[in-house]
Amino acid sequence: MPIENMNSRPEPLEAPRLGEPYLLTPGPLTTAYEVKEAMLRDWGSWDGDFRAMTAELRRELLDIAGDKQGEFDCVPMQGSGSFSVEALLGSFVPRDGKALVLMNGAYGKRIAQTLGYLGRNHVTIDKGDYMPPRGAEVAAALDADASITHVVVVHCETSSGILNPLKEISDAVYSRGRKLLVDSMSAFGAVPAGIADFRYEAIVSSANKCIEGVPGFGFIIARRSELEAAKGRSHSLCLDVHAQWDAMNKTGQWRFTPPTHVVAAFIEALRIHRAEGGVAGRGQRYARNRDVMVAGMREAGFETLLGDSWLSPIIVTFFSPAHAKFQFETFYELMKQKGFIIYPGKLTVVDSFRVGCIGRMDEHVMRRVVAAAQTSLAEMGVDDAAPPEIALAERNRLAA
Ligand SMILES: *Cc1c(COP(=O)(O)O)cnc(C)c1O
Repeated sequence: MPIENMNSRPEPLEAPRLGEPYLLTPGPLTTAYEVKEAMLRDWGSWDGDFRAMTAELRRELLDIAGDKQGEFDCVPMQGSGSFSVEALLGSFVPRDGKALVLMNGAYGKRIAQTLGYLGRNHVTIDKGDYMPPRGAEVAAALDADASITHVVVVHCETSSGILNPLKEISDAVYSRGRKLLVDSMSAFGAVPAGIADFRYEAIVSSANKCIEGVPGFGFIIARRSELEAAKGRSHSLCLDVHAQWDAMNKTGQWRFTPPTHVVAAFIEALRIHRAEGGVAGRGQRYARNRDVMVAGMREAGFETLLGDSWLSPIIVTFFSPAHAKFQFETFYELMKQKGFIIYPGKLTVVDSFRVGCIGRMDEHVMRRVVAAAQTSLAEMGVDDAAPPEIALAERNRLAA
């Protein structure tokens, strides 16, 4: 390679061919044209070709999880990601078990809510909007209550974008002989979440996050011994992970109509994921997206909710400017006109918005996102993007 090219940035990725805006959102997200193109033909769900696709999908996902010993298996499940989370909880938390849910945002809350629907005994550690649950407090909670059998945690809490410290949490759980279940929906495929990265019994993600497929199914990667033990435990026919697993192993088919086109798109998404260098390659592109976007936005006067050590390469929360002329709805529309769909914030204390780093886009796009944000502010007559004092006080609470 000629010297002058050695530090060159990667070639820009192809822009959406239909001219649709980029989705700077945590899924559904912008997908490659080839992923969409893979959906142009029909498959019979019983046909050998489709069964082979299901087998390939399961094998590839286990490969991404680094299951070399065949200790784990992968069970795809129809529906959005929350269906798979509900399937996971109903199948792996025994009816006489007790879960400790670590909450620091909307997805942790949803886990506790789901356990409530399922009638599973549970307690929570609620850290509010974005403070991370730490290993030491998990250890203390487990020491104080011997009846807790399982801990459930969100890997990247997509509502703030924080990357929770999974290794220390997992160590706390297993040093006390309990079991860990992980919602890695928005991290799996781009953030290390393999069985060698931290210990767990089961981890769940979905087609339309970091693997960059289209929405329609989720998947559960679980220890085989846990899958065996889940027999007869689920509250739900459709969301019974053991039954889905057992039927898939016996027939190669999904129990009920599979999202055939979504699976075909996912196979193509997996091929692209592999070609990009797997979890490491994908993670690098997303991290670069984040770094370029955050640096540019800070230069424009915006402030992030989280300090650098907690920022995930998945999605970033920015405080809304305090300026009287700033209105999120207008900002959203102006950004959309420029080709970028952003995401409202989910903080309860102060106004915020989110910008995703995942999907089929790169740093070249992120530079245009920053330019679009600056232009949009100018169009609104906002000459200062600084957040209100109270927002910065919030952030300092996290840093302390
Ligand atoms: C996206 C996501 C889910 C699932 O959401 P659905 O809308 O049901 O697909 C669950 N947990 C986390 C952390 C997520 O990011």
